[in-house]
Amino acid sequence: MVVILKKNPNEKQLENLKNWLQSLGLELHISNGANQTVMGLVGDTSVVDIDLIKALDIVESVKRIQEPFKNANRKFHPQDTVIQVGDVKLGGGNFQFIAGPCSVETEEQICAVAADVKAAGAGILRGGAFKPRTSPYSFQGLGAEGIRLLLEAKEKTGLPIITEIMDLHQLDCFDEVDIIQVGARNMQNFELLKELGHLRKPILIKRGMSATLQELLMSAEYVMAGGNEQVILCERGIRTFETATRNTLDLSAVPVLKSMSHLPVVIDPSHATGKASLVRPMAMAAAAAGADGLMIEVHNDPQHAWCDGPQSITPAAFAALAEDVRHILPYCQYNYEQI
Ligand code: PEP
Ligand code: MN
Repeated sequence: MVVILKKNPNEKQLENLKNWLQSLGLELHISNGANQTVMGLVGDTSVVDIDLIKALDIVESVKRIQEPFKNANRKFHPQDTVIQVGDVKLGGGNFQFIAGPCSVETEEQICAVAADVKAAGAGILRGGAFKPRTSPYSFQGLGAEGIRLLLEAKEKTGLPIITEIMDLHQLDCFDEVDIIQVGARNMQNFELLKELGHLRKPILIKRGMSATLQELLMSAEYVMAGGNEQVILCERGIRTFETATRNTLDLSAVPVLKSMSHLPVVIDPSHATGKASLVRPMAMAAAAAGADGLMIEVHNDPQHAWCDGPQSITPAAFAALAEDVRHILPYCQYNYEQI
């Protein structure tokens, strides 16, 4: 990090700044030019609040040379992180399909969809139990009972399960859940992220609707700073001026995130597009972009789904999609250190 000071800085304020930065464990390299004094900070600058420095009277500008995320940064951890749940691996060349309904509805529904997606090659079963709905009058999910039904589907199929946590007080229900999902609306629920950092199980974090990729990585950093290094990043579309799709799928997020970070990147074309007919082309595009996996909403009766029916595809459509994606995967390997 480089701090450029204003001309003739107040000695006392400069001394205070230097003492403060040194107390954070940073080494200071100061060069006094004719018009400007430049201070180079060496060490772990992720502990520095850049805005606090910028706000000082004696400071002209501050530039970060290094990104503020350390644990998630590929520079410090060049090899890809591989997430493992049971025998299932995700990342580092292990592509995975995460498939299942938006919400768990009944035992018959979740067990039937689980068996179908497994037969089509899915490695992980999804299903919402605690649902973040825009309207308080919409179906809110089955809650703890939904997780019980997911565990039953896991028991029958052997598929590990992923489901969303919305609030810290639900954590007790997640003991047997294999991967915990943090939804787009909670991407910056920092208390939740900190608590999940104390766990030793994978956390999938979805990109917030208006979050930058760096903000997504900082959310991953919250979990990792607590010692939980098993984080999966998920792009699920962002809000733009476009209304033809539910959200706008930012596919460049895949190579950008993968060059910035060693964490696996998954694409959710279902929430990104909001339309079943767009899921297959966007799934293919995501695989071509180098995604480590796809999260896809699959329902055995989309027309009568209790949540997100219009974007849910049938088990047969999922099977066809999975086969198509598998065909192109051998051509979709990239070296991210070179991007
Ligand atoms: C979901 O995956 O069910 C979900 C609600 O997704 P998002 O947080 O991306 O809207
Ligand atoms: Mn959904």
